[in-house]
Amino acid sequence: MNVFTFDAHLPRVLFGPGVLAQLPAEIERLGARKALVLSTPEQAQEARRVAEMLGERGAGVFPRAVMHVPVEVAREAAAEARRLGADCAVAIGGGSTTGLGKAIALDSGLPIVAIPTTYAGSEMTPIYGLTEAGLKKTGRDPRVLPRTVLYDPQLSMTLPVGLSITSGLNAIAHAAEGLYAHDGNPIVAMMAEEGIGALARALPALHADGHDEAARSDALYGAWLCGAVLGHVAMGLHHKLCHTLGGSFNLPHAEVHTVVLPHALAYNAPMAPQAMARIARALGVDDAPLGLQQLARQLGAPTALRDIGMPADGLDRAADLAASAPYPNPRALERAALRALLQRAWEGAPPAA
Ligand code: NAD
Repeated sequence: MNVFTFDAHLPRVLFGPGVLAQLPAEIERLGARKALVLSTPEQAQEARRVAEMLGERGAGVFPRAVMHVPVEVAREAAAEARRLGADCAVAIGGGSTTGLGKAIALDSGLPIVAIPTTYAGSEMTPIYGLTEAGLKKTGRDPRVLPRTVLYDPQLSMTLPVGLSITSGLNAIAHAAEGLYAHDGNPIVAMMAEEGIGALARALPALHADGHDEAARSDALYGAWLCGAVLGHVAMGLHHKLCHTLGGSFNLPHAEVHTVVLPHALAYNAPMAPQAMARIARALGVDDAPLGLQQLARQLGAPTALRDIGMPADGLDRAADLAASAPYPNPRALERAALRALLQRAWEGAPPAA
């Protein structure tokens, strides 16, 4: 029997090749007059192109977003927005750049327009993260949810194939955990299954040809749905493990998700059979955890923590951290079983419950 609460909160979305051209009209629609454009240093050129497109509505460019939003960078960006008299911010890039936009919104309430160029999904969530003195804190605040999101698959063409694969698997992780979330609901479950299916179709095609336009569109469509799942329901063991591993051992975000997901799902599988059936159906496989690991392997993505910089002597501490903070998860957090999970993930062994 269904029992649920659904409190929907989604940005306005424009999706399709070439929608970037609608940015000036979207800024106007927000009633804004001066936009500060944010990017990473690697995407500064795109950010400048966007600022030029905006003409006199382009206040300037802040091309210094970095992973995990250090609080110092967030303060500098907010100060730059004030100095330039910006009344909105445009974040073009992946989760790191969107994260910087969110930090500005949290500080100043400025509306954010997000133009995602990876599949991380941050643009669909009211979740922000800030790193201070090496410690990443996350929170939820409706002010940080972007007001408008422009999904233009042409902008993801330049995303390297390896990062496209791991970023897509990162997106699948949001949807997979959304399917067993304690606060899930039927709409979120439909978005999750549809999102996983779209990415499962798109990623092999992107692996074969990173310039396949239809596959780029499918992948971004899947990322949108998976991001929307992340924004609406609580994540469980998998996201907590990745947060711990990424934060405490400085491992690359999308790769950690790629390696850990099959193992976290296998851990939860006995307590979440319906979710596993839906994930397997979306992937077109019999066994969801194994199918995901095989997909990653087939696409040349990493499948072992030891290959992405995790030290063997960190596994005990990671298991302690994962078992210590209580959070909702289908299966109880048992320290010994978590330590075994981490060992398998470190070795790249097949996932097991
Ligand atoms: P990223 O934003 O760090 O980008 C990785 C690199 O790829 C950067 O150098 C970026 O400039 C480059 N890049 C991005 N798009 C490109 C493109 N189309 N072409 C060429 N290069 C491109 O990576 P990410 O995985 O998108 O984001 C990871 C961060 O986002 C993490 O800090 C994570 O915690 C956060 N995140 C937050 C949420 C949330 O809801 N708050 C959700 C997902 C991820």
